[in-house]
Amino acid sequence: MSRNRDGYSARQDKSQALRRPCGDVSALARRDGAAPHPVSGMASSVALWAAEGHAAEHPSIRPDTPSPQGLDTGGATFPPSPGKAAGNVIGRWRLKHRVAQLLRAQAGPGGDTPGVCKCGSAGHEVQHVGLVRRNGARPGATGVYFCDSPWLCPSCAPRRAAERTERLERVFAAAEAKGWSLVFVTLTAAHRRGDRLADLKALVSGASRSARQGRAWMATAREHGIQGVIVGPEVTHGRHGWHFHQHLAVIVSTSRLADAEAAGQAVLGRYMAAISEAGGRALKQGQDVTVVWRKEDLQGYLAKGSAAWEIAAAGTGKEGRGGSRSPWDLVADADAGDRQAAELFREYAAAMPGTRSCVVTKSIADKLGIEPEEDEEAPGEEPPAQEEAEELGGVPRAQWHRLLRHGHVPAVFSVIASGGDWRAISAEIRRLDPGEAEPQRSGPVPWAISALCLAQEARALRGSMAGGSLDAAIGIAVERHRQDAKRVGRPLLLPHLPTVARLLAEGFA
Ligand SMILES: [Zn+2]
Repeated sequence: MSRNRDGYSARQDKSQALRRPCGDVSALARRDGAAPHPVSGMASSVALWAAEGHAAEHPSIRPDTPSPQGLDTGGATFPPSPGKAAGNVIGRWRLKHRVAQLLRAQAGPGGDTPGVCKCGSAGHEVQHVGLVRRNGARPGATGVYFCDSPWLCPSCAPRRAAERTERLERVFAAAEAKGWSLVFVTLTAAHRRGDRLADLKALVSGASRSARQGRAWMATAREHGIQGVIVGPEVTHGRHGWHFHQHLAVIVSTSRLADAEAAGQAVLGRYMAAISEAGGRALKQGQDVTVVWRKEDLQGYLAKGSAAWEIAAAGTGKEGRGGSRSPWDLVADADAGDRQAAELFREYAAAMPGTRSCVVTKSIADKLGIEPEEDEEAPGEEPPAQEEAEELGGVPRAQWHRLLRHGHVPAVFSVIASGGDWRAISAEIRRLDPGEAEPQRSGPVPWAISALCLAQEARALRGSMAGGSLDAAIGIAVERHRQDAKRVGRPLLLPHLPTVARLLAEGFA
């Protein structure tokens, strides 16, 4: 069971990429196409998570972040290449607008709406929302609020799901280092059309909780070496109504396959007993033990919760999933006039938000020697520029909010994705929102350095260096400014570097 650890060394990188806010979560694009979790029709299953080198090629955490060599474009424009990444960003904003419409209609005028209805609106005191093009194609907005909702927001959910996956990877790495195993168990209950989601959720979650409580559980855990359990809920809607289930990652202090399986079975057995005690029914068939060895299978388990829902294909692929619809499918169907789907989505929106997933408790963290991790929503404001981006221009706050409210942002983004310049973009904005004056071109104030200033810094740096040329010192000084500018989200405006070198050579600095 030797496993490749290389994948873990890239973790830090990944978290940085993943912390990107709302408009930029297309990093999970490929995950959108992943096969849905094969739980439909199965009451429960157990799987041992022990794939070889599974993390080395994680499901597309950052397929479309700019490559380092893409950073120094000197303001040059990129050739237009609107691809899947751009399409995903646009699709998410479209879906987000539909979600907001559905939930606003439910709340009524002046009613309380969840954060997703404000996701993408201008941040506090932001007068102009910036429009950017990342990696030559991917449209984005800067200075906007992101809601961080893992259940309701098509823009934020993929990022949240990726964070959960990362958490599990850390757990897996730590367990592996101890020679322990992770066993996956899926818990659900028999359900019928018409069952309320809130009731099913309470039934499954309640039985799952009580299966892991009390003296008998402590004895079971001791007997099997169960060190802790991490829970990830998921929900879909199918022919038989709501299908609520929990994925359990059971941490077992054994490296023996049979022992790990027995631990998973013990958890399952206690759950089955708890669910019948609660008056529910967990189907007997389908409770087989599935050992997952292949990385592809593993990813099915990793794609928990909202990560397993296809956003790009929402509303288009029901047949392929045996009639099973994700909440995004419900939104898309509602948008196409399916009133029942609209009702179902609202029921979902009332039941799921606030449900935590993949929490690493202090007890588990202590045993594994890692940090505990909660699953709190942390809404915030997107920093102006977290990565190199082509700044295109700014849209006044009020106008941006009109575009957002009327669902026009995807149309504006499409122009950005197809490589349009600011003239084309503002023409589209005028077309969509003709009542207003032309949007102003305005970006953040550049981080500008004078030639003399840079020369003086380079001189001082070289004095503190053990050796090295003035050119190298200039390079270091430039790099520092680059970092600083990036940190505060301002574009870097460098002086003419040959002038800096001349100032140094001629002793002016
Ligand atoms: Zn959001």
